[in-house]
Amino acid sequence: MHAFAVLSAEDRSIVDIELPTPEPTGAEVRLRVTHSGVCHSDVHLREGSWSLGRAGEMDLTAGQRYPLIMGHEAVGVVEAVGPDVQGVAVGDLRLVYPWIGCGACEECRAGRENLCATAPALGVAKPGGYADTILVPHERYLIDIDGLDPAWAATLACSGLTSYSAARQALPGDAAAPAVVIGVGGVGLGAVAALRALGHENVVAVDMNERNLEAARGLGARAGVLATTENLPGAVVAAAGGPASAVIDFVNSSATAPVGFAILRKGGRMIQVGLFGGELVVPTVLLPLKVVTIQGSYVGTLDELRELVVIARSGALPQQPTTTAPLSAAAVDESLERLRAGGVTGRIVLSA
Ligand code: NAD
Repeated sequence: MHAFAVLSAEDRSIVDIELPTPEPTGAEVRLRVTHSGVCHSDVHLREGSWSLGRAGEMDLTAGQRYPLIMGHEAVGVVEAVGPDVQGVAVGDLRLVYPWIGCGACEECRAGRENLCATAPALGVAKPGGYADTILVPHERYLIDIDGLDPAWAATLACSGLTSYSAARQALPGDAAAPAVVIGVGGVGLGAVAALRALGHENVVAVDMNERNLEAARGLGARAGVLATTENLPGAVVAAAGGPASAVIDFVNSSATAPVGFAILRKGGRMIQVGLFGGELVVPTVLLPLKVVTIQGSYVGTLDELRELVVIARSGALPQQPTTTAPLSAAAVDESLERLRAGGVTGRIVLSA
């Protein structure tokens, strides 16, 4: 098999390497990757650290195994199955749930594998979808996407799932209450789509990029506000018709998190998803006085992905724009560079 991998912490170029093709055992399934979405998290992973604001940097390379085969939005055709597999057969097209846990801890046993502390997630700790082949450790992580555009379906494994899970956690009871999405890139646009699919009417998008705001309006956002606007919190509150009941921040940097906090109404909730890094300094008395919730969110559960695929197949989930490129080392490299530089609208999906 061929994989498009980072070889070491020192050399971060993406290299086409040949590896032994894995033979599935037990309930394992091997797929030939047909589509692989490119997430900004892989930009961070390749860079090898998270910014912790004044606390410095968190090194990601120490525990990393190389070659690092990233890519956690994969769709593929089943190529070989282990002897215990019953529910899928060679030739089936399936979406891969990559947020796999250890299976033994309290979170895994409760069905929240995405919260497992030692998660062997595909594309992060285990080989992922930037390859012509992916080995999935159990058939239950495969989801039928019959009827869906496979390029868009690939994005549901992270962009769709992360934003759907965050939207469910943020959703105000009142459909007309302001819900603000900060950072409407590949994942944030999914939140606009998810909020609309869940019946929310008053979604306001904030971004640095006018084209991405246009895409957010196209998916059903009521308004878009450029992040460079003077007095940004005031401008967002004005566009939303009042302080926000919910904020979902897909940037979550020192620049955006204070804006999210400033625009929250009493009893509001902010869900922090982005990994751009930095810090948020909050006057402590405002927490009880405003009765606000600040919450982190990390991808989503297998059940949530199954739910989301049902919603997508029903036609109720607006489809965010995707751009395709070939599944190759050069295209992985170029796509990550484009995301790092900013200005991508929607998701880049590599296809074989
Ligand atoms: P992306 O590059 O496609 O989109 C980022 C968007 O943020 C762009 O539209 C960009 O213009 C906008 N932006 C950047 N700085 C901004 C600012 N200061 N104010 C307003 N908008 C700004 O990235 P993506 O793939 O959508 O991922 C977004 C973030 O979410 C990344 O940090 C990624 O690692 C993270 N992420 C987290 C999870 C999770 O589960 N917590 C899952 C997936 C991705």
